[in-house]
Amino acid sequence: MTATEASTKLGVPDQLFIGGSWRPAATGAQLDVHDPATGDVLASIADAGVVDGVAALDAAVAAAEDWAATPPRVRGELLRAAFDLLQERREHFAAVMTAEMGKPHREALGEIAYGGEFLRWFGEEAPRVSGRFGDNPSGTGRIVVSRRPVGPCYLVTPWNFPLAMATRKIAPALAAGCPVVLKPAELTPLTSLLFAQLLSDVGVPAGVVNVVTTAAPAAVSERIIADPRLRKLSFTGSTPVGRRLMAQASTNVLRTSMELGGNAPFLVFDDADLDAAVDGAVSAKFRNTGQACTAANRFLVHRSVAEEFTARMAERVAALVVGAGTDPDVTIGPLIDDRAVAGVDELVSDAVDRGATVRTGGARLDRAGSFYAPTVLADVPPGSRLLREEVFGPVLAVVPFDTEDEAVALANDTEYGLVSYVFTRDLARGDRMIDRLDTGMMGLNTGLVSDAAAPFGGVKQSGVGREGGAEGLDEYLSTKYTLIAR
Ligand code: NAD
Repeated sequence: MTATEASTKLGVPDQLFIGGSWRPAATGAQLDVHDPATGDVLASIADAGVVDGVAALDAAVAAAEDWAATPPRVRGELLRAAFDLLQERREHFAAVMTAEMGKPHREALGEIAYGGEFLRWFGEEAPRVSGRFGDNPSGTGRIVVSRRPVGPCYLVTPWNFPLAMATRKIAPALAAGCPVVLKPAELTPLTSLLFAQLLSDVGVPAGVVNVVTTAAPAAVSERIIADPRLRKLSFTGSTPVGRRLMAQASTNVLRTSMELGGNAPFLVFDDADLDAAVDGAVSAKFRNTGQACTAANRFLVHRSVAEEFTARMAERVAALVVGAGTDPDVTIGPLIDDRAVAGVDELVSDAVDRGATVRTGGARLDRAGSFYAPTVLADVPPGSRLLREEVFGPVLAVVPFDTEDEAVALANDTEYGLVSYVFTRDLARGDRMIDRLDTGMMGLNTGLVSDAAAPFGGVKQSGVGREGGAEGLDEYLSTKYTLIAR
């Protein structure tokens, strides 16, 4: 059956994409997708079981040899064609992303620009995969190091960036010559189905990209990860689930890339340009309604500027416009669901009970949909849960500090290490922070770091591996050494 024969009212295929064709789940089961701005059901799509997961892996395995042998230039040109078609279809993609995830239309377009860049960047990189050679030290042979695709990959993505988290994995996998099975989050599966259709339309061969949507991610993933034909797992999501999948992956000593949670510190020193810090804070905290692994979680501000920073933030945040992402004036969309609203509310209540002051917001909004008021909390006491846990919502928590050493100690006092933001006009201090902060990424005087050309990823329990840049391609390549005797 073609996509047009079976699609939702959003114009998105509603079936599984396996081996180049669309098919229902073997059991016929369906899963509902909701609009977080209204709670309404948007679509009912195929709900894959273990049998379908295995079928998708079968298709990837069957495609592996031909895809690895496809000239790198051809693979790169397919990615470039996908980039171009995504630009043409961006309004459709944006509408679907806003509908299923809630992000404002403008942010959906921003994610398409960012997510699309992975297609273009890795399309350009595909023909540049190279190895090295040299004489061995004893002079008895030549060392040849070549790079080979790792083989069939299982890609698992979260709901917060339904397009970019998929392209960040699919593009380097395809560039490297690996076929994939993508399992998007059950809350936002529609964007991935639409993207599968796009890849099919540009001529990506059958079986190279397969998409299984399921309301039973644990069972489907466990079976696929246990399959000895799988060569690689790339996961983006929470640290607890990542930890579980890593344990499963250890059985077959599977290659893994893990993009997990964060608890980003945002340091504002007394010499910072406060205008830049306030602008940076708005994007580092409130983009995607705070639902980003890179979201600044703890605002560590020098005591001498803490009040001015907090007051200016409260003013900016109170002016944010909350509502459905389809409304062009809206700057803050809903949270993904009511459970997320309850979680954010608990963290705020905990901080307030311990003595934090609410400067704006501080409560769920009394309206339909999953909305929480953009919030600024001052003087958040140590021990507050939101300083330890990912808030994943529109809550900015300010903690004052007195010395650089104290700021560094507070910033590093977390099991996470994804990204840090530092605002200072002192170049030497900025340089020191590069060394002193335990973090995979750092924004110096900026609240946005993500870039397809740069290695995205964390240290500590924020994960293993990188996505983007040359490092992102390495994740899908294995190194083969040959000694040519002379
Ligand atoms: P999640 O861990 O609940 O889900 C992520 C994916 O795992 C989804 O596809 C889900 O279906 C699947 N999953 C859930 N439970 C599973 C299980 N028991 N077995 C197998 N698969 C399972 O995370 P989420 O709520 O979708 O996303 C938010 C989290 O993702 C946050 O912690 C955020 O920081 C993180 N994240 C990290 C990055 C990064 O690049 N480091 C990017 C975006 C999001």
